[in-house]
Amino acid sequence: MSDAPHKISHSTVSTLHHIHKKLTELNSQIGRGPRQLQAGIKAIETLKASEQQAKDALQQAKIACDRKQLQLKEREQRVADLKAKLNTAASNREFQTFKEQIAADQQANGVLADEILEAMEKIDELGRELKLRTEDLNQREADHASLQSEVDARVSVATAERERVMEELAVAEEQLPDDAVEIYQRLIRSHGEDGLAHVEGQSCGNCGATFAPQVLNRLMLSHFICCPTCGAILYMTADSVSE
Ligand SMILES: [Zn+2]
Repeated sequence: MSDAPHKISHSTVSTLHHIHKKLTELNSQIGRGPRQLQAGIKAIETLKASEQQAKDALQQAKIACDRKQLQLKEREQRVADLKAKLNTAASNREFQTFKEQIAADQQANGVLADEILEAMEKIDELGRELKLRTEDLNQREADHASLQSEVDARVSVATAERERVMEELAVAEEQLPDDAVEIYQRLIRSHGEDGLAHVEGQSCGNCGATFAPQVLNRLMLSHFICCPTCGAILYMTADSVSE
């Protein structure tokens, strides 16, 4: 590393590290926003499908009930027609036949009327079910809308904060010696905040590698040194020595 800079202000690197950690946190907050909404969107889709199912079931039940009612009306008309025919019966036998037909039709109509009552009860039940599902859906949509505005607010605060921190970053980066900029940029591009590492005691705060005393001595003299193990630019602060 012959073309590496010899010295660097450790306090500048410390500031940069702090800023990059903050940026990582802000980026994660901003990225988390849409994910927090995913579960709600999915739940709403499921509830919508469930509401639609209930609507379809209700509609089918109504159609079936209408059909039975129409059928009953037709059969009642037939009974009325048969009753009218009783007076015109040409023989006793024909009269009896009409009577039997009327009795059979009336019995069938009784069964049909019971079925219609059952169908109407079913319609009531399906109507109540649909109402519950619609209420569930509306509640969930309202909850989602308020979560959406919370998330939007959080993301917008974090985005504004990120802009501010990016400005801080630009100011801090100007403090880097020219010959350190390229190495620094490359490390940040590939490793983000882990491209910089605080020296903790005798070890790298990023990868935990332990340094030889001569490395520590050079660090104390503000030398520019990258961790031999993880490659991060090392910096010492007052805390480093006490740790
Ligand atoms: Zn390291």
